Amino acid sequence: MRVAVINYDFCKPDKCNLECIRFCPINRSGSKAIELSEIVKGKPVIYEETCIGCGICVKKCPYEAISIVNLPDKLSGEIIHRYKINGFELFGLPILKQGYIIGILGKNGTGKSTILRILSGELIPNFGDPNAKLSYDDVLNKFKGKEIYDYFYKLYNKNLKVVHKIQYIEYAGRMLKGNVNELLNKIDERGKIDEVRELLSMQNMWNKSVQTLSGGELQKFLVAAALLREADVYVFDEPSSYLDVRERLNMAKGIRELTKDKYVAVVDHDLIVLDYLTDLVSIIYGESSVYGRVSKLYSARTGINNFLNGYLPAENVKFRQDEIKFMLKELTDLDFSKNVKIRIKWSEIKKNLSDFSLDIEEGDAREGEVIGIVGPNGIGKTTFMRILVNEITPDYGYVMPEGLRMSYKPQKLIPEYDGTVQQYLENVSKDILSTSSWFFEEVIRKLNLHRILESEVKDLSGGELQKLYVAGALAKEADIYVLDEPSSYLDVEERYIVAKAIKRITRERKAVTFLVDHDLAIHDYISDRIMVFTGIPGREGHGKSPTSLRKGMNEFLKEMQITFRRDADTGRPRVNKLGSYLDRLQKERNEYYSL
Ligand code: ADP
Ligand code: ADP
Ligand code: SF4
Repeated sequence: MRVAVINYDFCKPDKCNLECIRFCPINRSGSKAIELSEIVKGKPVIYEETCIGCGICVKKCPYEAISIVNLPDKLSGEIIHRYKINGFELFGLPILKQGYIIGILGKNGTGKSTILRILSGELIPNFGDPNAKLSYDDVLNKFKGKEIYDYFYKLYNKNLKVVHKIQYIEYAGRMLKGNVNELLNKIDERGKIDEVRELLSMQNMWNKSVQTLSGGELQKFLVAAALLREADVYVFDEPSSYLDVRERLNMAKGIRELTKDKYVAVVDHDLIVLDYLTDLVSIIYGESSVYGRVSKLYSARTGINNFLNGYLPAENVKFRQDEIKFMLKELTDLDFSKNVKIRIKWSEIKKNLSDFSLDIEEGDAREGEVIGIVGPNGIGKTTFMRILVNEITPDYGYVMPEGLRMSYKPQKLIPEYDGTVQQYLENVSKDILSTSSWFFEEVIRKLNLHRILESEVKDLSGGELQKLYVAGALAKEADIYVLDEPSSYLDVEERYIVAKAIKRITRERKAVTFLVDHDLAIHDYISDRIMVFTGIPGREGHGKSPTSLRKGMNEFLKEMQITFRRDADTGRPRVNKLGSYLDRLQKERNEYYSL
């Protein structure tokens, strides 16, 4: 069978010679596989039944608007949803099981949010016919005899109440008025408000107005709001964005504790969290914005490993050529024991900001080095970043030398640019879009930014905005790159694309990158040294000098009393269960972070 997808935002029939239609061999033979149609405002439609999938139209289209994928015929029985004609198509659904937390893992644009909306009952699946207006009974008839039938029978017969924590929390933040405490008290249907406040460590934000919450606080507020509702099905779309490591693990614990015996589905891109939180994992693979296919359920460990390997053994499907490997050996080529030149250094630094005081130990970073920065939220990491880029003047101390060229990607993603993606990028660097450069191939193209060049920056989704701002920051010629949480909203593959680019650019330009991120797997992947921030969030922060990855991570995890082991097959870091044999053994050996 074939999936033919046309991105109508890119398709411009008045600017091309309609070669897609003229060169189609089926059209030339007198039949019709592709033609202009009024259904889509005079743009082409492709008839999948007659199209032979030769791909000529794909090559002819100058705007890369067409994708054709040939899939095994047996998949035609698995179509679950299609939003519009020649649009994205979803194949299969994960089976939710009462009492199990199901993780959903896959790259962006392959239908994960669509799946959650269907499982929540917000979207009625149309089984591939965008014009069909199906009733609940029609859907149940389609699922008859399948394992998923039971779930939908209960869902549609109103026996299941659903709570859905949405992905882009910024929208919710703007709509809500009132303070955290009052709002949560109003929705506490389970009488568990005290337990939730403790589990998610919300004491410091309890009396704040929702409008003033930071990203991490807003995320906790929305997870808490979901957990306080009495429901049968709990669905969480990216609950770890903006949370620090301890908050991520608390959130995971909170969800585990408060959703026992419920149906639970979680989409997340932090592999450490997904591993810790879920019982079973379903991989969604396919082509972004073209199609997504849902795998069988695997145990969390096996599923995540399969995802990294790009291969699903139970269904014999290879969905990615390269494996995602931990420890980027080929890029850890700089020998810092040799005399590598110091690029930036700072004295002891102090800064007071109303109730918050920050002090930073003196330190330096050498040419080509990636300095990872870890620590809880509200501890002064961003403040230190802003001191580095000269946005804040310290009360005491200095950064040397003066006049370094800085490139800064702040934490908050504000779509304030008035213009298109292309204009934004060309403003940063004139030849960023020259297709012959490695940057275009390895960053712009792999992050799919080349496909949204004509979109207005203010219309982009959170993930698209993040990719644009990170690419923009890296494209700029600078001595110092300061990247504050570049992985929020990126999927796992995008995180590794960005991480590789950061490492390469830092090395090649003999620059320094300061990388604040809560995804420890990313630090594990590219950071040369680590700065650990400790203290009391919101009150005082202490930034230590950069130290080795091993020592820094050890210190950071020890502070939280969490131990990490390595997965035997993939080398990825995994959280040990508190009090387990390995947890106790590693603590005894002072080996919180095993290499
Ligand atoms: P993911 O959550 O994996 O990023 P989504 O389920 O959000 O993926 O989207 C999958 C595809 O479906 C995307 O290509 C998106 O453009 C398309 N899509 C999502 N929602 C709609 C909609 N309401 N109308 C048309 N297309 C949509
Ligand atoms: P992190 O990046 O580690 O999350 P930040 O540096 O953003 O931490 O913030 C540290 C603390 O300083 C927070 O409590 C924050 O509210 C406070 N803070 C940050 N900027 C200002 C400011 N301009 N005025 C007053 N307080 C501030
Ligand atoms: Fe025609 Fe080939 Fe395009 Fe199908 S893939 S519409 S057969 S040109």
